[in-house]
This record gives sequence, C-alpha cells and structure tokens, in this order.
Amino acid sequence: MSVPRYWRNEVPRYRLQGEECSQCGAKYFPTRPVCKCGSTDFKPYKLAERGEVVTWTTISSAPTGFEKYVPYVVALIELEDGCKVLSQVVDIAPDAVEAGLKVEAVFRKVKEDGKEGILQYGYKFRPVVE
Ligand SMILES: [Zn+2]
Repeated sequence: MSVPRYWRNEVPRYRLQGEECSQCGAKYFPTRPVCKCGSTDFKPYKLAERGEVVTWTTISSAPTGFEKYVPYVVALIELEDGCKVLSQVVDIAPDAVEAGLKVEAVFRKVKEDGKEGILQYGYKFRPVVE
C-alpha cells in the first residue's frame, strides 16, 4: 500500500472524524451509509476529544503486531458529545482504570509495520490530568 493511500484511508481515524446527518443531526462514529432517519446525506463531524470510560477490558493476549504492548486496556468511552468510541487507554495501570474515569484523546503510534517501517498513528485516550 502506498503512503498517500495509507493516509487517505487513515485520516478519519486520525482526526477522530465522524459524520453528522444533514437531515436530523444524528452523529455517527464509525460512519454508516444510511442514517436512522433514512437520509444518506452526511457531513464531516469532528468528535469531542474528551469523555469518560463506560466499560473496559484488559488485553493480555494480543493480536500479531501488538505483543509488546500487553497488558493494555481497551475501553468503551462515551465522549462529551454522546458519541461512543472503542479505544486503547494509555498512561495508566490496567488495574487503576474505573468506570467514570475522565479521559482525553491523544495521538500515539498504534503499530509499527515491520516490513516497510511505516509507523501507524491513531487516537488513543489517556486520563485527564487536572
Ligand atoms: Zn438522520
């Protein structure tokens, strides 16, 4: 896969970009082809970058390419705008994660492609330090 194509495919995730229905205003992330109202007319929508942990799980047996990151936490996060995203939570011990934990989006290296050395970046979430 060429680098430009890689970026085209990855930009929505990189920017935490979803879509908003032009008819009823429903927000989707990931995006879907047809809104619950039946409309197929969407415009880009930038998701909130803060939210809180709803549920989570600790991954101790990782898929290929992620072995060196275990154990890590993957959480369902409800953003301040009501959208829900599934994301890794970083900068915290797995056993310190709890429901209601305030988190914010950060951009981190997700995976390193061993063959071509391409670094894949994406959003992750970390605890909000106030
Ligand atoms: Zn709609």
